[in-house]
Amino acid sequence: MADYYYELDSAVKDKTKKVAWCSSVGPAEILRSLGFYVYFPENHSAMLGSSRMATDLIPYANAVGYSPEICSYLTADIGSYLKKITPLSKAYVGIKGIPKPDVIVFNTNQCRDVQDWFNWFAKEFRVPILGIYTHRGVNEITDSHIQSISQQFKDLIEPLEKISGDTFDLNNLKKVLSLSRKCSDLWKKVLDTASTIPSPITFFDGTIQMGPAVVLRGTQKAVDYYKLLLSELQERIQNNISAVDNERFRLYWDGMPIWGRLRAHSELFYKQNACVVASTYCNSWIFSSFNEEDPFKSMARAYTELFIVRSDEEKEKYLKKMIDFFKIDGLIFHDAKTCPNNTNSRYGMPQRLEKETGIPNLVVNGDLNDLRCLSDEQFRTNVEAFIEQLEDKR
Ligand code: SF4
Repeated sequence: MADYYYELDSAVKDKTKKVAWCSSVGPAEILRSLGFYVYFPENHSAMLGSSRMATDLIPYANAVGYSPEICSYLTADIGSYLKKITPLSKAYVGIKGIPKPDVIVFNTNQCRDVQDWFNWFAKEFRVPILGIYTHRGVNEITDSHIQSISQQFKDLIEPLEKISGDTFDLNNLKKVLSLSRKCSDLWKKVLDTASTIPSPITFFDGTIQMGPAVVLRGTQKAVDYYKLLLSELQERIQNNISAVDNERFRLYWDGMPIWGRLRAHSELFYKQNACVVASTYCNSWIFSSFNEEDPFKSMARAYTELFIVRSDEEKEKYLKKMIDFFKIDGLIFHDAKTCPNNTNSRYGMPQRLEKETGIPNLVVNGDLNDLRCLSDEQFRTNVEAFIEQLEDKR
C-alpha cells in the first residue's frame, strides 16, 4: 500500500504521467489499460474513518452544503480536503496530500453519492469527470443491462484517450482484466478459507487485507500479495490455528464496517468466542465474471451483479447461500446512518431471512465514519445479549 501511494504521489509530480480518480467498483481496468495511475477516494475515506479523523472533519463539509445525513465518506473526504489534513501524510512520510487528478471517473452502481462527491472535486480541480450510470435494484441481469453498461464503458475510451495521450489497445485491456480476474479469484479463496471450522481469519482482518483488491486490482502486485496471504491462511488451517480462540459462534456481518471501531469490535467478539467469519462488504471485490476474451460485456456483468446493485430478492438468495457456506449461527446487520445504500435492515430483510432460515439476527445502529452515530455502550450490550441468545439456542 505504501508503494502504491508513493507511486501515485510521484506520478502527480511527473508531468508525463496521468492520474485518474475512480470509484471503488468503477472501471479501474479501462483506466489502467490506458496508463493512468488510479486513485480511489473511498480508500482515503476509509483511512479517515479507521484513523478516527473523520468525525471531526465532517462538519467542514456540512458547512459547504453537504448534509450530516448523507454519505460520511463524502463528507469526511471533502472535510479533509478543506482542512488540508490527510492520514496519508501520517502513514507515509513525505506525502503532503491526496494526488491531484487529471480526470475523475465514477460508476453509480454502488450509489448516487459518489457522483455528487466526485463532481465536487471535479469542480474544485477543474478537471473532466466521466460517469457510468448503472441500473439499481436489479433482479435478473438481462442482455439489455449488459448492452447498456458495456456501451457506456466503450464510450469512455475516446475522452480518456484524449486525456491520457495514449491510444487504447484492446490487448492491454485484456492483460489488465486477466490480472484483475486472478486477483479476484485469489481474494475469493482467501475469504473462503473462513468456511473452515475454526476460521483462520475474521471479517475485521478482511477489512484490512482487502486493500490491494480495491486499489491494486489489475496489477501483478495484488496477485502476488494474495498468493502469499492464501498460503499463510492454508498453513493456519493445516495447523488448526484459529483467528478466535475456542471459536463457539460463527457470525456474518452485513453492511459497512464501522471503521473507527475495528479493533474495539474485533476484541469484543473475540472475548465472546465469536468469530465474524464473513461479510457482504469484503465479498464485494470478487468479480468472477471478468473474462479477458469478452472484456466489455464481462466487465458490464461483473460490475452489475454486485450485491449492492441487486433487488432484495436477489440479495436474500445470496445471503442464504452465505449462511450455508460459512455455517453461520447468527447475522449482524449494520444499519449505517449515512449509507442507506449499503444498509439492508430497513425493509424487513432480517425478519424474512430469520423466518426462512431460522438463523437469528441482530441489527446494530452505527455508521461507517461518523462516530457520533454510534453508542459504544449500546453496541456492546446488544452484542453480548445476542451471544447469550445464541448460547441459549444451543
Ligand atoms: S455506498 Fe455508501 S459509503 Fe459507499 S460511497 Fe455510497 S453512500 Fe458512501
